Amino acid sequence: MAKPTREVRLAILGSGPAGLTAALYAARAELKPLVLSGVPAGGQLLITTDVENYPGFPEGIQGPELVDRMRRQAARFGTEFWDVNVTKVDFSHRPFVLEAGPDERVRADAVIIATGASARWLGLPSEERLRGHGVSACATCDGFFFKGRELAVVGGGDSAMEEALFLTNFATRVTIVHRRSELRASRIMQERARAHPKIRFELEQEVAEILGTDHVEGVRLRHARTGDERVLPVGGVFVAIGHDPATELFRGILELDEKGYLVTHDVTRTNIDGVFAAGDVHDHRYRQAVSAAGLGCMAALDAERFLAEHGRSDRPPEPHG
Ligand code: NAP
Repeated sequence: MAKPTREVRLAILGSGPAGLTAALYAARAELKPLVLSGVPAGGQLLITTDVENYPGFPEGIQGPELVDRMRRQAARFGTEFWDVNVTKVDFSHRPFVLEAGPDERVRADAVIIATGASARWLGLPSEERLRGHGVSACATCDGFFFKGRELAVVGGGDSAMEEALFLTNFATRVTIVHRRSELRASRIMQERARAHPKIRFELEQEVAEILGTDHVEGVRLRHARTGDERVLPVGGVFVAIGHDPATELFRGILELDEKGYLVTHDVTRTNIDGVFAAGDVHDHRYRQAVSAAGLGCMAALDAERFLAEHGRSDRPPEPHG
């Protein structure tokens, strides 16, 4: 059902760990934040199974349950949620306007953007079927589950080198599969990977199919020039072909870098006063649930300070103190 236009002090776009932590802090500061969750709500953790590196859960926790707990914690202090996708923003003046449909509008004195990023996938049906069963896009998250196996990493950039190097802590051998004869990765990362005794390369090879019924048993490689095919037996495949930040909505409105990530100053400030960013939407370096949560906390504290200094959009500034 269509919702009326709402006036809020703080709107938060996105409901992964960054958005939900921002909501928790803002709610406890009595800002009564409204979270425009995005559909499906929850972000990348929704497609993550065991999370073993989020502090406070010594036995590990399933990604969807972690998100659910964060959401309930933010709700407990008065966060309101709309499970909608924002389709248009107007940041040209305060209050900022966010639209999620013809009748669903929000006017907000400040905004935190925590729309995240998503891993790129190869787009193979076998990859989708085996995701979470030996196919992963995050070595830091899942590497531990592959002790003693042979693994493949797909990609030729710095991420692929980094994932492969990290995976040598667990795997008996790591094969980097790259579609061209030249790697894109920086010289230093290439050299580290090449020098590692457990790492080997399959260049000019595309992944035609990931093999296995309920778990990964290998990959069918296809030579990029000759088309020759052969099977590489591996127990897991890590896809490291880049990420896409969810910033299309802000193109031409906020400053983006050449890869489409939001550019921030002083950690969370965007180029528009009162609009902040948190999590993978601007951080392409750390990309962890816990670092996104930390950035969500920082964005909420920055937004709180901004609102204290600037007051409501249609009122004179509130006195300090
Ligand atoms: P990236 O530099 O864009 O590299 C992506 C790689 O995946 C490229 O080698 C690309 O092949 C390949 N690829 C893309 N789509 C593919 C497809 N459909 N099938 C097969 N291969 C495909 O991405 P990234 O490695 O994630 O790095 C992103 C940024 O973060 C970079 O600026 C990087 O330097 C930085 N980063 C730095 C570090 C570090 O310094 N420690 C670590 C991680 C990331 P082509 O080469 O043929 O295009």
